[in-house]
Amino acid sequence: MRSKNLSLSFFLLLSGALLLAGQFHYLPQTERKLVLDPERTQELFRDGQVQFEIVCKPGNISSSFAAQELADYLGQALDSKLTVLSQKSGTRPALLVGDLELALAHGINPAEMDLDAYVIRSIGQDILLIGSDSPNKHPLKVEASESGSLFAVYDFLERFVGVRFYFPGKIGTIVPRLKEWSLPAIDLCERPDKFYRKSYDISNDQNALNEEYGSSYRLASLRQKRMMSWALPTTHGLAHNYLVERFRDSNPEYFALTDKGLRHDGTQDLYTPSNKYGHVCFSSEGLKEELFQDAKACLLKQSPATRNMPYNRWGPTSVPGQSFCLTPNDSMYPCRCEGCWKIFSDFKPPRTYQRMSDFIWQYTCDIAVRLQSENVPGYVTMFAYNPYERVPNVEIPANMLVQVCFNGPWAVGESQAKQIALLESWNQKLGKRPWLWNYCIQRSVQKGIPHSTPRTIGKFYQQHQQLHSGVFLETETERWHFGYLNLYVLSKVLWNVNTDLEALLAEHYQLMFAQAAPEMQEFFETLERHWTVDITANTVFTEIGPVTHPPSQNDLWSKIYSPAETARIDQLFAVAREKLSADPAALQRLEFIRASLWQPVSEAAEAYQVALNGQNELFCLMPEVPPASISPDGYVTAEFWETVPPVWLLPFYGGKTPGAEIAEVSTRVRTARDQNYLYFQFDAEEPRTAEISHKQREKDGQVWKDNDLEIFLNPSADRKTGFQILFNTLGCIQDLRFEPGHNDAKWDSGAECRISIREGEGWQAEIRLPRKSFTDAAGKPIALADRFPANFFRGRILQGQAVHYGYSWSPYVQQVHRLESYGWIGTDPAMRPANIIEHGDFTGHYQPGRRSIGKFITNNAIPEENLDRKVYRSGGVSIRMDDNLDHLNYYLTDVIKPNTRYKLSFQIKLSNLQNISEWKGSGGCYLVLGWGTGKNLYLPQNNYTGTMPWTRQEFIFQTPEKIFTEHQRAVLQLVRAKGRAKGTVWFDDFRLTELPPE
Ligand SMILES: [Zn+2]
Repeated sequence: MRSKNLSLSFFLLLSGALLLAGQFHYLPQTERKLVLDPERTQELFRDGQVQFEIVCKPGNISSSFAAQELADYLGQALDSKLTVLSQKSGTRPALLVGDLELALAHGINPAEMDLDAYVIRSIGQDILLIGSDSPNKHPLKVEASESGSLFAVYDFLERFVGVRFYFPGKIGTIVPRLKEWSLPAIDLCERPDKFYRKSYDISNDQNALNEEYGSSYRLASLRQKRMMSWALPTTHGLAHNYLVERFRDSNPEYFALTDKGLRHDGTQDLYTPSNKYGHVCFSSEGLKEELFQDAKACLLKQSPATRNMPYNRWGPTSVPGQSFCLTPNDSMYPCRCEGCWKIFSDFKPPRTYQRMSDFIWQYTCDIAVRLQSENVPGYVTMFAYNPYERVPNVEIPANMLVQVCFNGPWAVGESQAKQIALLESWNQKLGKRPWLWNYCIQRSVQKGIPHSTPRTIGKFYQQHQQLHSGVFLETETERWHFGYLNLYVLSKVLWNVNTDLEALLAEHYQLMFAQAAPEMQEFFETLERHWTVDITANTVFTEIGPVTHPPSQNDLWSKIYSPAETARIDQLFAVAREKLSADPAALQRLEFIRASLWQPVSEAAEAYQVALNGQNELFCLMPEVPPASISPDGYVTAEFWETVPPVWLLPFYGGKTPGAEIAEVSTRVRTARDQNYLYFQFDAEEPRTAEISHKQREKDGQVWKDNDLEIFLNPSADRKTGFQILFNTLGCIQDLRFEPGHNDAKWDSGAECRISIREGEGWQAEIRLPRKSFTDAAGKPIALADRFPANFFRGRILQGQAVHYGYSWSPYVQQVHRLESYGWIGTDPAMRPANIIEHGDFTGHYQPGRRSIGKFITNNAIPEENLDRKVYRSGGVSIRMDDNLDHLNYYLTDVIKPNTRYKLSFQIKLSNLQNISEWKGSGGCYLVLGWGTGKNLYLPQNNYTGTMPWTRQEFIFQTPEKIFTEHQRAVLQLVRAKGRAKGTVWFDDFRLTELPPE
């Protein structure tokens, strides 16, 4: 499909003639061939003697690299040092890599074969390995360079030596040790069934990978994935054609008109990153002319300067002489001009409209048709993507190449059927198989869990092979190794759709884990089953495309990876380890897989448990209001509020950017209830009251844009149906009911709100919420549970800007509607989580000059500034330890018992805490539990040092038989080692509870 048209158009250009580019082939043209002649078998290695040579003529960087790879891996297999010769000796068989002259002499012309195709052929006693190579491009350094001879080498190593490339590095590469090696005569021609093969598998640990493996990402692509050599960009071309730079000032009418009458020219609504590239007006004939001229100049390989391109280069989605992308910018803004708006006006995500698709495709097809009529070679590319993914009622010209976007292998049921129907309709329209853009993204679906689903992915592209000519699979992941088998199988299936998946996977388990293959197969199949059946199956379509609703954290850790299930998997590894005790290589692979794919799951389970325990400790008392405490205006009196303990909101980053944890302003919340109402009182510190941003808004207006407070309640405690009430500092209210994947803005809370602002100090709000307004979607009343999940949020917006992402009561919230990460409202003080330590949140009595805070005590006066009222986790204060405060004691005599199990938890934060002790491990900061017997328990095992955001810690211990005497007290000691530490540590929220005996 490839070089014919490229080289053809090149010659035509040279000769000054312009003709239509050669036909772009969606289907393979080169015939696949494999003939082995055992009659002509040659012995190439025996008794440690190498009886062949590797030859590569110098001058071609790509084939030289290929020859070196061959020498390296074959050398490992034969335990011999192999070098690459620049010419044949003629005395023994030669493996000739990339010898174009020889190839042409035998009727093999790589330039006439399919892209990425190659030949391995015995010629006399020699074997030629060759594909099309970009002569001056190093395969590791240049994307979109052709490395056909390299693909030939890798295939040769796999077929005839038994090498396997599962993932980068020695552990993921199988190189068998050969005692002897013979080959039959070979006549092989191989090419991919699917020309379009790309993946985007960037991971959070990419830097670590690169450090470990060098340029692993590219090398892995080559060795393991053998992805398409070409660049054929199809997405967001209009974002990358420098329209903003070239036309913002001169031709504002090229850009989409906004609802405010402005132009979307890269200056509007920059919260959405893609908006900086602007959005276009699809009624602008002037822009259409410019785009035509751009495409024409690019496809004719004219200088970018002729089109006034900044930096004198074409945009990243333009490939001179080959393709020019006309796809609209991402998050496309529907232009409000008269011409566009009569088409777009009824557009409401997630629905897409036929006429919207017709309109946009007409615009781009006009350009393609004109290029065709002017005999401009090459192609324009378009992406069938929301909101214009429907097949348009527009003639698609032959020089337009189409990629279709939808969810892909993990979709099930109706969502799967919908995407296949879409794909079928595109096949019918084009009379060809488009290529796809699909998603198998781990990190946006479920953190901590590997998304290894090779069978599902392989089957999907096999099952629908008649409908596609390949895929760009987007597979971002937390850890690259989570998905290595997905990529391996994807590559094999795209190269050969008839690959026997079961055999391929069975071989992987056998080669990697030897005796332990059954256990590891069970492990990988367990990962796949949980991911596809229990985690991703619940997918719904939304305005931003398909969205998967993963299971709740509770379901994940109690039902899917339940303690019993994790114990079963631990046992698989234990059995596997036992079986491999005499096979160090396989054992090493097993341990690597355990550390890379299973350990993260165990860690995530543990972190969930610790966070869960922390969440369960978040308690907000909602006492009953005595009737006498209600004022004539129907709100609760200030005197009553004084008796209710508040909770404090914490600086919140939406789980995205861990940054400063300083509460610039404090926010306290109190709650109460009576038979008919729930009451909420907010006390918000705000020295900059004059700068508060808010607007008078209608009911259910966009209050979230204002300086606001938000209440999140799950009154039934079912962790499914939540209610959100937002109000701004003018008292305007927005409210909604939410369930997983669905918001119902029609719900009316009936809330009333009273706001008072104290200039330069802050503001107070009191909300009254009728209990009867809690109803389910069917209108059925929801009764208030005695104890139910809730959260509070403050958006601090000054001068139109969010000063901080916000303040949240629960620090465990990552997504505001995740009910299971909320704290608890309880109607009875007895529901308060137990704590043996009094005022563990440092809200106990303190007086400057004294040496105690509540029952925490030290040797000298505690400086007032060591009570930190800006950095805390509970109660609006924490204790900060630095050079002015090195320890605090809390005596436990009389409150703890001998021979009893306890759990101690607390919050700790470190800032550049250094151990400056000469004795290893004796500096930094730590805790001591002294039993009053001369014996101590030190926590944690290694002292705290470094920088760490607020982190909850939990320790379980058992007290000794004997714990204190008349003369010596039991004590909990917080220590920042005197003279042996530098830097700062904060402590907060100490809790000690007795546990039942084990
Ligand atoms: Zn327009």
